[in-house]
Amino acid sequence: MSGTLDPYPRDRGKPVTASRYEIVVVGASVAAEALATRLRELGYDRELLVIDRDARMPYERPPLSKLYLTEPDSTEIGVEWDEGTPVTIAEALAVDPEAKTLTLSVAATGSTRVVTYDTLVIATGASPIMLPFAPSGMMQLRTVQDADRLRRAVHAGARVGIIGAGAIGAELATSLRKLGAEVVLLDKADRPLERLLAGHLGNEVTSWLEELGVDCRWEADIRGIEGGPGDWSVTLGDEAEALNFELLLCAVGARPAVDWLASSGLLSEGQLLCNESGQVVAPDTVHENIYGIGDVVTRLLSDDVRVRTESWSAAAEHGVHLAERLMGEGPATPETPYFWTDVAGRKVQVLGVINRDGDASVEFENPARGTVLHKVVGEDATEGWIGVNAQPKIAMLRMSS
Ligand SMILES: Cc1cc2nc3c(=O)[nH]c(=O)nc-3n(C[C@H](O)[C@H](O)[C@H](O)COP(=O)(O)OP(=O)(O)OC[C@H]3O[C@@H](n4cnc5c(N)ncnc54)[C@H](O)[C@@H]3O)c2cc1C
Repeated sequence: MSGTLDPYPRDRGKPVTASRYEIVVVGASVAAEALATRLRELGYDRELLVIDRDARMPYERPPLSKLYLTEPDSTEIGVEWDEGTPVTIAEALAVDPEAKTLTLSVAATGSTRVVTYDTLVIATGASPIMLPFAPSGMMQLRTVQDADRLRRAVHAGARVGIIGAGAIGAELATSLRKLGAEVVLLDKADRPLERLLAGHLGNEVTSWLEELGVDCRWEADIRGIEGGPGDWSVTLGDEAEALNFELLLCAVGARPAVDWLASSGLLSEGQLLCNESGQVVAPDTVHENIYGIGDVVTRLLSDDVRVRTESWSAAAEHGVHLAERLMGEGPATPETPYFWTDVAGRKVQVLGVINRDGDASVEFENPARGTVLHKVVGEDATEGWIGVNAQPKIAMLRMSS
């Protein structure tokens, strides 16, 4: 189907009829879907209230920067949810942890409701960061609406600037080149995928992008952005150079979507901190009936170690593990961290912990297929693998890890 969503039997406009639910889930993406599916598998048969403010949820985000842009007619992004777990389109506005109430604005009725929960699951993901000095009108990519807007705006020969060469920026550069745009990819770091690959393979990834015709500008010192849609000007410091673009995209990262929790008392220094069980840890309190899963969460591994992931697999794992915990199953073993991205026609997979100062070596290579498996071993004994077109090798490592 044409890049649209599968019309599975969900009730988008469902009004919220009950005033009390055992479990309320805010956000209906990967983490929530994994939670709901696993709860049903384990026999949970009561009503779940799952809400999302995005009227087109649930859908998958990873294709939005990849095939959804380049091959919309054959790219399916809709997610099949359990029929008995409809997603209600509603925006969570506030939580009162003492009263155990959630205030929400329900799309179907346009009204504000207060529901009581026994267990609240926060799965509101992340929102793109906009450069503080950027005028309005720069594009970004998090939702299907953003992707549709971009697809409508881009055309062969369009001059596009992308600020941020992380996974989404590099994927966008790839996809927009395939659509015939002239792409300049800028980053203040000295190489692409800097955080994801912890500084490794910078030259390789740069050469793949350049072979594709992407103009890579690393260590870009952006001094100013002026103009608006159709006519942007980006000034770079050192060269006093102005670059002009028809479209300008901001891909500098995302931050947890926690604004709606501002008055809840659940945030610690603006973060939703959760312990290893997923329970929200607010200053001096562990909220035993409020959990966080997915990109929104900052995991507190010890007093001074905090980890936040932005990864499809981690979000799904959080959801599965929470369902098991709620159904009284023992604590599951955490999976090895995993992320994938598609850059310049290569599948890049990252498994484990990639140490910035680690020793990188090639474990396996097949030049005919463009396959390389790199292993990175840190002095602290951490191990990680970076696979380039090495899906079977990474799959075997994931199974054995
Ligand atoms: C373009 C793109 C490409 C990606 N590619 C990859 C990839 O190749 N590999 C990979 O591992 N990961 C990738 N990711 C990351 C991956 O999609 C995320 O890690 C994953 O979606 C996180 O899932 P989540 O359930 O935590 O939250 P999200 O997917 O962020 O969803 C959170 C939901 O909460 C809803 N919400 C927020 N606030 C409220 C509120 N107040 N009330 C009601 N609803 C609310 C939002 O509408 C949203 O639907 C990509 C992300 C993007 C944007």
